[in-house]
Amino acid sequence: MEQRELVVIGGGAAGMMAALAARERGASVTLLEPNEKLGRKLYITGKGRCNLTNDCMPEDVLRSVPHNSRFLYSAVHHFPPSQVKAYFEALGVPLKTERGGRVFPQSDKAADVIDALFFSLQRKRVRVVKHRAVSILTKDGRVCGVKVEKGETLPAHAVILATGGLSYPLTGSRGDGHWMAQELGHTIVPLRPSLIPLVEDGTLCSRMQGLSLRNVRLTVKNQKKKVLFEEQGELLFTHFGLSGPLVLSASAHLNFETDEYTAIIDLKPALEDAKLEERMLRDFAEQQNRTIQNVLEGLLPRLMIPVMLEVCDLPGETKIHDVTKQQRRRLLENMKHFRISILEPRPLEEAIVTAGGVKTGEVNPGTMMSKRVEGLFFAGELLDVDAYTGGFNLQIAWCTGHLAGESAAEYGRKGDSE
Ligand SMILES: Cc1cc2nc3c(=O)[nH]c(=O)nc-3n(C[C@H](O)[C@H](O)[C@H](O)COP(=O)(O)OP(=O)(O)OC[C@H]3O[C@@H](n4cnc5c(N)ncnc54)[C@H](O)[C@@H]3O)c2cc1C
Repeated sequence: MEQRELVVIGGGAAGMMAALAARERGASVTLLEPNEKLGRKLYITGKGRCNLTNDCMPEDVLRSVPHNSRFLYSAVHHFPPSQVKAYFEALGVPLKTERGGRVFPQSDKAADVIDALFFSLQRKRVRVVKHRAVSILTKDGRVCGVKVEKGETLPAHAVILATGGLSYPLTGSRGDGHWMAQELGHTIVPLRPSLIPLVEDGTLCSRMQGLSLRNVRLTVKNQKKKVLFEEQGELLFTHFGLSGPLVLSASAHLNFETDEYTAIIDLKPALEDAKLEERMLRDFAEQQNRTIQNVLEGLLPRLMIPVMLEVCDLPGETKIHDVTKQQRRRLLENMKHFRISILEPRPLEEAIVTAGGVKTGEVNPGTMMSKRVEGLFFAGELLDVDAYTGGFNLQIAWCTGHLAGESAAEYGRKGDSE
């Protein structure tokens, strides 16, 4: 009887969903979580409001996953955003949809999502045990138990590993699952930060810290001038470099192990070069006797003007009638292509999501079961998948968790009839 137990390691979004889905399919489930409270990372998602999914079609979710999206095809179709929404509404969490399809609890409280999951786990009698798993035991290539920190062993016919990534380690995500998987022969694709601010190689950004630019176009190129990212939106200058939604999205496309990058900001994406020049000439003609630093106030945010003038090698006190054609051209060039050299991303601990993880080629995408060890399943950020902002990372956690939970319960039933 004991051998039929399913153990879920990790009480985050993916683990809780996996435990519930398995229980709903009749499995006997133990959920291991060392934290006092389940879902600690969920509390800080969406700035405490929890952007729990995106109101879009499965194909749109897959388009928002820059790496290994094909691996998620079955999971996302199995438990798409429409079902995730229905699931939480049925748990008593009314939802609302905001700009860009972002779905939040109507209360704007992440705690409501966690409470709903927690009470559902209680109602469905999932055993929640406050323990840290240290290794997964196998016999003849099959899972047979889980060893926990104080030396105790829990028998298990199947294990779902859902220990998350490496970012925000204070929430409990410390990478334990990666080495447990590695011990069992899984390849770990090197971990790197994604959805992370970028550190500049220089001091331009720090001099504009606090300045937020809306409706700019950000292009990121590597040393071979290949465009890795190009989008319009909002970015922020900070004391270390660049942040804001555009920059976080761009970071999902960068790999600092192999490449160096330059961020190029088009400050006037709505104006083509010729139109911007026309506008500049008009402003200049009307204000011949003013200084360039004053005249630029009509074109640029105040905090940016001294930096722009320095980059263009143009003293701020220069009268407009003394600005040469070459200097005007440099201004124009920098307004359309303001360049920031990127040194590195901020540390992995500060990333919204960890890229890399358990190699997807070693996991069955239709069940989330390991191709190396029978009875071992994976869910959530531990896998080598990551997505853009907008609720897509939690969507991945819910759908891989749900699929792993149902598959593990099914696997247990097959075991019963053997
Ligand atoms: C600041 C921030 C904001 C975010 N906002 C959003 C958002 O609004 N929308 C969105 O879609 N995504 C968001 N994300 C990303 C999202 O939170 C994660 O992708 C998601 O939580 C991953 O879920 P998970 O269950 O795989 O991992 P986690 O949520 O990290 O859960 C893993 C759990 O495993 C437990 N664990 C670890 N080791 C062990 C062990 N040895 N034994 C037992 N348990 C263990 C941990 O304590 C933890 O509770 C945000 C992330 C951050 C950091």
